Amino acid sequence: MSVTVLLQPVGPVDAALLRSVARSVVRALPVRARVTVNITPVEPPLDAFDWDRLQYRADELNGVLYGLYRGFTGSGVKVIGVVDGDGYVERLNFVFGLASPELGVATVYTARLRGARFGERLVKEVLHELGHLLGLGHCSNPRCVMSFSNSVDEVDGKEAWFCEECSLRLRRLVGEA
Ligand SMILES: [Zn+2]
Ligand SMILES: [Zn+2]
Repeated sequence: MSVTVLLQPVGPVDAALLRSVARSVVRALPVRARVTVNITPVEPPLDAFDWDRLQYRADELNGVLYGLYRGFTGSGVKVIGVVDGDGYVERLNFVFGLASPELGVATVYTARLRGARFGERLVKEVLHELGHLLGLGHCSNPRCVMSFSNSVDEVDGKEAWFCEECSLRLRRLVGEA
């Protein structure tokens, strides 16, 4: 069984950047994967936007993508929305991303990742949320892409790489080991 991922821009996200992220994600995964970019962005629904905080409610946005793609996720496709903006969930000031493994859907938020290392940060966050969608939890190895990041410095401190333990777990989860 191989992993199929759809990268879905939510709002304007550069398509060439997303294609390069898709290639890097395939290279970094320790399992066979196909990552497709939908170049047509989804317009972010206004009712998932918090006008006081100027942030998206990440769980609501995941629900919106699930509504659009439940036919795909029902057959095992993992959908990752790359959102032009910032996101949060209750009790957290912000999230870099949020995975809903039960829905097969995740979102990654670009607002706090921008800068010279934007592309590589985006790759790490997509890999991290995809790891969650495939069943991985957080990792205590700070270099591993499955370590939890509280700041962009921590994102920069980890690598677009699954440690040996997470790689083995991932191969077992998808049935390659
Ligand atoms: Zn996480
Ligand atoms: Zn790890």
